[in-house]
Amino acid sequence: MKATLQEVAAQSSASAKDRLEFDFAYRMVTPVWLFDIDASRILLANAAACDIWQAESEAELQTRDLSVGMSKTVQNRLLQYQTDFADGATFNEMWTVYPNDAPVSLDVHYSGFLRNNGRFAMLCEANLRQDITPENIRSTEALLHTDVMISLFNRDGPPLYMNPAARTAILGSDQTLSDLFVDRRDYDTLMFEVDRSGEHALVAKVFTNNGLRWHNISAKVCADAATGSPAYLVTANDVSDLKIARDKARYLAQRDQLTGCFNRTYLKQIVHDLGQFQPQRCALLFFDIDRFKQINDTFGHEMGDVVLKRLSDRAQEALSKLDLLVRLGGDEFVILFRDVMDQDEIIAKVRKLLEELRIPFRHNSIRLTPTVSMGLTFFKPGQRSLTTVMSEADIALYASKLEGRNRLTVFDDALGAAAKARNQIEVDLKAAIERDEFVLHYQPRVDFATQKILSAEALVRWEHPTRGLVPPNEFISVCEETGLIAQVGQLILERGLEQVDTWHRNGIDLDLSINISPMQFESCDLMDTLGRFAANPDFPAHRVELEVTENVFIGDVEKLAEQLREISALGYRIAIDDFGVGYSNLSYVSAFPVDCIKIDRSFISQLPTSGPVVALILALARQIGARTVAEGVETPDQAAWLASHTCDEAQGFWFYRPMPLTDLTATLEA
Ligand code: C2E
Ligand code: CA
Ligand code: CA
Repeated sequence: MKATLQEVAAQSSASAKDRLEFDFAYRMVTPVWLFDIDASRILLANAAACDIWQAESEAELQTRDLSVGMSKTVQNRLLQYQTDFADGATFNEMWTVYPNDAPVSLDVHYSGFLRNNGRFAMLCEANLRQDITPENIRSTEALLHTDVMISLFNRDGPPLYMNPAARTAILGSDQTLSDLFVDRRDYDTLMFEVDRSGEHALVAKVFTNNGLRWHNISAKVCADAATGSPAYLVTANDVSDLKIARDKARYLAQRDQLTGCFNRTYLKQIVHDLGQFQPQRCALLFFDIDRFKQINDTFGHEMGDVVLKRLSDRAQEALSKLDLLVRLGGDEFVILFRDVMDQDEIIAKVRKLLEELRIPFRHNSIRLTPTVSMGLTFFKPGQRSLTTVMSEADIALYASKLEGRNRLTVFDDALGAAAKARNQIEVDLKAAIERDEFVLHYQPRVDFATQKILSAEALVRWEHPTRGLVPPNEFISVCEETGLIAQVGQLILERGLEQVDTWHRNGIDLDLSINISPMQFESCDLMDTLGRFAANPDFPAHRVELEVTENVFIGDVEKLAEQLREISALGYRIAIDDFGVGYSNLSYVSAFPVDCIKIDRSFISQLPTSGPVVALILALARQIGARTVAEGVETPDQAAWLASHTCDEAQGFWFYRPMPLTDLTATLEA
C-alpha cells in the first residue's frame, strides 16, 4: 500500500522547535529551506525557496521525495556533510536543482541545524545565479557528481578545495596532502617528481574514511584561482579492487605454491631486468636436498613437503632483502644475490646457510637431519644468459654431490672443462652402446692354498674408435650419473653370463665375477636376465658371483634384501666389492646373503701397517662364512702377509693383470 502524501509528510515533519528556530527565514527574501538528510525531504521552506523549487506551497514541497533520482555520489556527500556539521562545518557550493526538470543554478550556503532527535538537518541559504553560462553549469555539475576525487592543496596546508567525492573519502578537512599517505616515501616520490616535471602519477596506499585504500593519484602544479598562489591539483581514483586482484594474480604467477618462494618464471624476469638496467656483479646459488627421494620414500610425500617448507623458511630467514629465493621445482632451489661487492663475503654467507639448513628438526616425533648440496657461481647479468649461469651453478652442485654431498662448490673454469668433457663422453657413450663397442677383459683370482686360478673378474673396456681401449674409470661413473649404466650394465651382464655358459659347455673349470651397479637393482632387467639364465637347467648359476659395492645398501634396503635373497635362491653368489671403504654400516653383512668379501685395494697397499684392519675384516668374513679376496695385491710381501693370515684368494697385478679372453684361455691352458 502506498502511503498518502499526508502520511509521508507526517513521518518527517518539522517539530515545534524546528519551526521556532526557522522562523527568521520566513521574513527573508533570499530562498532558505531546511533539508532533512535522513529522510531526503524538505522540512521547512520560505516563500522564496518555494519559488525556486516551483512548489504550489510549502506543504506540497514537504511531500516531495528528493531521494528519487539522487546519485550515489550526492547521497554520500550529504551523509558526509551531516557528519561534518557536528564539527561546526559550513559549506558553499554551486548546486543545480531540477524542480520541474529544468535546471536552476544556485550558490548555496549549507550549515548544520540540530534537531530534537540529536541529528543534523541541513539549513540551505541559496542565491540564484543568473550569470552562469551553460558550460559553467555543466563543468560544475560534473565536478560535483563525479566519483573522481579532485582536490586542490597548497604545499603544506589543509586542502583549499575538495570536490564532494574527495570530501567523502578523506578523513578530515584539515588533513594536508602528506597526511593522506600511509607510506611517506610515496608522498616524497610524488612531490619530487611533481617539482621536477610539473606532474606525476602513482598508485599509493592512503588513509580514507573507508579504511586503508589504494588510490591512483595524480598531482599537477597549478595556481590557486582565487589567490594566485602556487597549489597542487590532485585527482585520485580508488583502484583498490583492481590493485588487490592484480597483486594477487601477480603473486600467484610469481610464486611457488608450496613454499611461497619465487618461481623460475620470476627468476628469469629478474635476471633479464638486471641485464637491462644494472650490469652489476651477481651470484647464483643452486642447491638441492641430499637424498630427498629417500625422505619421500621413507616418510611419505607429506613429510617431503614439510622438509621443503622448513628448509625454504630457514633460507628465507638467512637472506637479506635483496636476495631472491627461488624454488625451481622438486627439491631444487636457487638463490640470486644481487649487487655483489665481495665474493668472499657471499661465499661465507652461503657456508653459514649450509650450516643452518642442516640443523636437525622434528616433525610428528620424527627427527630429521636434512643436508643440502650447493653450487655457486658469479656472473654479470646481461653478459651471460641465465641458462649458462644456471648450468655453471649446476655443474658446481654436481661436483658437491660427487664429493659426498652436504657441501658447497664454487664454479671455476676447470670444473666447466671437466663438465664439458663429461658431456662429450655421454654423447660418445650413447653411440658406443649403439655400435656395441664394449668388451670384457678378465682378471684371474688365485687361490692361496692351491695357487690355482679358480675364478676371474669381468672388467669392461670401451674400444673407442679413436682413443683406443678406454678403462672403466673414465666412463663407468658417467654411465652411472647419466643412467646409461642400465643399458651398459645389462650388456656386460648378458655377455658375462653367456661366457660362463660357454666355459661350462667347453668343460672349462672357472667361476666368473660380474660387477653390478646399484642402479641396476632398480630396473627389472637384472632379475629378469638372472632368472632367464638360471631357468636353463644346464646353466651353472653357482659359478657366477655378482659383485656389489657397499653403496648398494643405501636406499630401499628392504627391497634390496628381497632381491639379494632371490638372487641367492637362483643359485648365484654375492660378493661385497671394495669392502671397507663404503657405507660404514656393518649390519647388512649379517642381514644379507654374502658369499664373498673383497677387501679394498687401499688396505692391501698399506700392508703391513693396515694389518690390524685387514685381520679384523678377515675375522668378520670368517664369522659369516664368506670367502675372502684381497684386491690389488702388487708385491710378494703383501701376498705372503695375506697367505699367512688365512686370506682365501688374491687378485692383483702381482699375479695377473686383466686380460682379453684369448689371453685368459691361454693362461688357463698353460
Ligand atoms: P673393481 O671392481 O674394484 O675392479 C678391480 C680394479 O682394480 C680393476 O680396474 C683392476 O684392473 C684393478 N686392479 C686389479 N689388480 C690391481 C693391482 O694389483 N693394482 C692396481 N693398481 N689395480 C689393480 P679396472 O678394470 O680399471 O676397473 C676399475 C673399476 O671400474 C672397477 O673396480 C669397477 O668398479 C669398475 N668396473 C669395471 N668393470 C665394470 C663392469 O663391468 N661393471 C661395473 N658396474 N663396473 C665395472
Ligand atoms: Ca669388482
Ligand atoms: Ca674392487
